[in-house]
Amino acid sequence: MKLFGVLGDPISHSLSPVMHNAAFCALDMDCSYHAFRVKPDNLEYAIKGAGALGFGGLNLTIPLKEKALGIVEPTEMAKSIGAVNTVDFKNGISGHNTDGIGARMALTDRGIGIGGKNVLVLGAGGAARAIAFQLAKDGARVTIANRTVERAQALARDVAAVGEVTASGFGALDKLIRQTDILINSTSVGMSPDISGTLVTSDMMHPDLVVFDIVYNPLKTCLLMEAEIAGATTIDGVMMLVYQGAEAFKIWTGVSPPVDVMEKAVRDALS
Ligand code: NAP
Repeated sequence: MKLFGVLGDPISHSLSPVMHNAAFCALDMDCSYHAFRVKPDNLEYAIKGAGALGFGGLNLTIPLKEKALGIVEPTEMAKSIGAVNTVDFKNGISGHNTDGIGARMALTDRGIGIGGKNVLVLGAGGAARAIAFQLAKDGARVTIANRTVERAQALARDVAAVGEVTASGFGALDKLIRQTDILINSTSVGMSPDISGTLVTSDMMHPDLVVFDIVYNPLKTCLLMEAEIAGATTIDGVMMLVYQGAEAFKIWTGVSPPVDVMEKAVRDALS
């Protein structure tokens, strides 16, 4: 049996085991995926130990994604984003970041094109970094708006190496949203337990807007409820989680996993 795992701290909340094990089971693969609580100081031992034990691959989550850059051989994208969420042991120890691809696939899965679109990314943390890099690289005109505007500006300076990007605070969100095709909440606002939080309300939206909230707990966030009132298209955070996992699965096994099975496993676990 081949072992896989996700490392993080805390880790008990992770949906990755249920998602990947559902895919391994559906494909009748002799593989098993588990969650491991690992402190940042032990990350190097954990990654190298997993490699020595013959693991098929690892995912990394908070607070380990950035620290892993100094331990693995990162891809150009992981280096640009500044974080690793997938470790592969086939050629040495390589580090990938599949979060941006997950976000892109969550959009294209719904028939939403990215090239030439005005995308407003709320947030400048780890997830926002991955999304902004990926969508700018895919030809979107990206605006990054963050509570701490200096972080948005710093991220925009980095993303400018791959595409068109500007930075903003939250002061002019009304005006920005009027010119936006795709609004992506990549902040933790609206996440359980503070589920009544939203940075944008229905009166600031328009019906042609796509509102994508990467927060998946709760599934229907306050932002998505506001988007429904405005008649906007809504996308919840589940498919980004599923597609970042599917991309990792492909890196490890060379096999495209059944995303419908993975989605069902995640939605069942969340409900
Ligand atoms: P992070 O690195 O800690 O970044 C948090 C971001 O949220 C920062 O931009 C921060 O702004 C902003 N923020 C936090 N509280 C705020 C508030 N009260 N008002 C305005 N802005 C606020 O977190 P992350 O790893 O990027 O994750 C962000 C969210 O995405 C989490 O809910 C996570 O669960 C979710 N996520 C989902 C997926 C998926 O696959 N669907 C993947 C990754 C993450 P400042 O810079 O001003 O502090």
